[in-house]
Amino acid sequence: MVRLVQPIGRRGIAHRRWTEAQSAGTLWPVRPIDITTFPSELALKWDNGGESFIPLETLRRFCPCAACMGETDVMGQVYKAPARPYTDHSFVLTGVSEVGGYGLAPRWGDGHATGIYTWDYLRRLAEAQ
Ligand SMILES: [Zn+2]
Repeated sequence: MVRLVQPIGRRGIAHRRWTEAQSAGTLWPVRPIDITTFPSELALKWDNGGESFIPLETLRRFCPCAACMGETDVMGQVYKAPARPYTDHSFVLTGVSEVGGYGLAPRWGDGHATGIYTWDYLRRLAEAQ
């Protein structure tokens, strides 16, 4: 814990918040330097030296797109499309592309490709394993 002897000004507070956010991995997102797909999992190597492994089935089941996770309106109500049955192809990754420098868009064997997984979402998904 840091004890502050002198009152800190706006800049000091902002700087402290920034470094806290950095260490929490929120404001300053950790980015992948290497993404490898395996038959059953996705491996991500982060620029902070960490690694994440996410089973493809988990990745697909937690697809964040509106069709899979639903959309929330301004009143907080969630509209979710009826669950579509997964097939064996649903958990087969046919490709991944980086989106806008902030996330990943996987393409699945059943043609589904609308989910965009942010780096933060991917890290949280891997940590939840
Ligand atoms: Zn989806």
